[in-house]
Amino acid sequence: NRRAIVAANWKMNGGLALVSTMVSELNKVTLNDNVAVVVCPSFPYLAAFSQASSALNLSTSIQLGAQNLNENAQGAFTGEVSTAMLQEVGVSYVIVGHSERRSIYNESSELVAEKVAAALNAGLTPILCIGESESERANEQTEQVLAAQLQPVIERVGIEKFTDVVIAYEPVWAIGTGKTASPEMAQETHQFIREYIAKIDESIAVKVPLLYGGSVNAKNCEQLFAQADIDGGLIGGASLKAEEFNVICSAA
Ligand code: 13P
Repeated sequence: NRRAIVAANWKMNGGLALVSTMVSELNKVTLNDNVAVVVCPSFPYLAAFSQASSALNLSTSIQLGAQNLNENAQGAFTGEVSTAMLQEVGVSYVIVGHSERRSIYNESSELVAEKVAAALNAGLTPILCIGESESERANEQTEQVLAAQLQPVIERVGIEKFTDVVIAYEPVWAIGTGKTASPEMAQETHQFIREYIAKIDESIAVKVPLLYGGSVNAKNCEQLFAQADIDGGLIGGASLKAEEFNVICSAA
């Protein structure tokens, strides 16, 4: 049985007030066995989230994640954050290669691969994001795009390391748009991703959690999570509403 994960990507939203609301709401959540929840606030709030979680003795199934990292260990990289810094404040997961980082900050799949390698070397679990744009789907390039995003990471870290990788499939056209991929379409793409990995190593492919992201909410989560190859979700907008996020966590 694969582990299931529901991750909250707050993006550049929220603050100390959301940290305390979320921690106290998550303290009430009922999770199924084998489900982990990962909350990813912005850098300035990671330590506060950690402290609030410890103060309430929050379940160990609720973990802290960052939204980005720098691939270098330390040094003259103004404005950047290292794996060691993240770990010192209690982070155990890190989102890598979110489509907003790829498109707005020009992160290439090669840089994403370096970041995944840095996360793994440090013992952080990377949540590797991949996904096609609306025009790429319209031009039937989805599989080619996903393969081109995955392949550099597989080559950089080696397929055996994927036992410690989480993959999030986020079709760019479904992010923040309210246009969710239908459960069937999402399943079909997740199956493609799992088969792509299985062609290299079948025993790894069955273990990798594949999360769906893109306009997941309390209403559509159940049907999405019911699909054979969907092992949870990466939640944006709905993760900022504590009660709705709890509903999504309980559905996984
Ligand atoms: P929304 O859930 O707001 O569509 O965002 C998805 C996302 O980008 C999560 O990383």
